[in-house]
Amino acid sequence: MRKIYKKLLNKKLPAHSKDISIAIIILLLLLCIGSFIFYKYLASQIRSDVTTITPLTSDNNNQLTKQTVKTVSSATFRIPILMYHYVEYVQDKKDKIRQSLNITPYTFEQQIKTLQNAGFTFMTAKELGDAIDGTTQLPKKPILLTFDDGHWDFDKVVLPILKKYHIKATVYIITGFIGKSDFMTQNQLQDVVSSGLIDVGAHSIHHAMLKGKFFPVVAYEVYQSKAMLENTYHISVASFAYPDGVFDQQAINIVKGSGFTTAVSTIPGIEQSNKNRFFLYRLRPGYKTGETLLEYLRQNVFKAY
Ligand SMILES: [Zn+2]
Repeated sequence: MRKIYKKLLNKKLPAHSKDISIAIIILLLLLCIGSFIFYKYLASQIRSDVTTITPLTSDNNNQLTKQTVKTVSSATFRIPILMYHYVEYVQDKKDKIRQSLNITPYTFEQQIKTLQNAGFTFMTAKELGDAIDGTTQLPKKPILLTFDDGHWDFDKVVLPILKKYHIKATVYIITGFIGKSDFMTQNQLQDVVSSGLIDVGAHSIHHAMLKGKFFPVVAYEVYQSKAMLENTYHISVASFAYPDGVFDQQAINIVKGSGFTTAVSTIPGIEQSNKNRFFLYRLRPGYKTGETLLEYLRQNVFKAY
């Protein structure tokens, strides 16, 4: 072993390998400088007042509220935010994930028809943000429909049903997946925007989980997904959905700093307020029939009605 080591040490390096080493060092240096400039750029895009990472405690949450939001409502609203993914007749019976996240178009239509007949008012995430801010009043029996990921069926199946009943909803788009197999194309998304019924929210660029990640990675996924949608479709994007519902305080700060007014989580619940406006609670309606869903809401959400 010692002999081999000595041999290696005494071995003369060929002349050109010196040049290669220098080139590698220069490349690494350039990479470091490039990363630093990129980091600075992202940090400058995110408002400086919310970039400090602070643990989520009720104390500093209250402080944050006092510092940044002055006219905000202190009320807690009982508002169901329903979470959907696929609305279709799943062709591949072996696709268990798709089946577990799916609801058939028939059941979906029954659900919203029943809710509309029961007097619910469908509002968007942007409108909920305004209500939490105290700039608008909540409608009678408010409810939200949210759709994650931006699959092709949102334009082909969901939108025609929503148009039929003139119902508003919010769709969260993974911007890097636009036009990919299984997702809406740019034209389809334009169709959704033009309908005037849909609030388009961002759902990151690559559906990357945002918990415990390096600041520039989270900032890029959050800020750039908003910027891309706003620049391409000339809309304002006010709500964010955390991929897989996963987030931490840094992700919340970046979402807030990027100019979103609300964000949705997958935490089950119905109490929405300024305290959880960046991780609003949602409910999975699943395969419930219209009547079962209505009964569930009556029992669990609107006891006072
Ligand atoms: Zn998702």
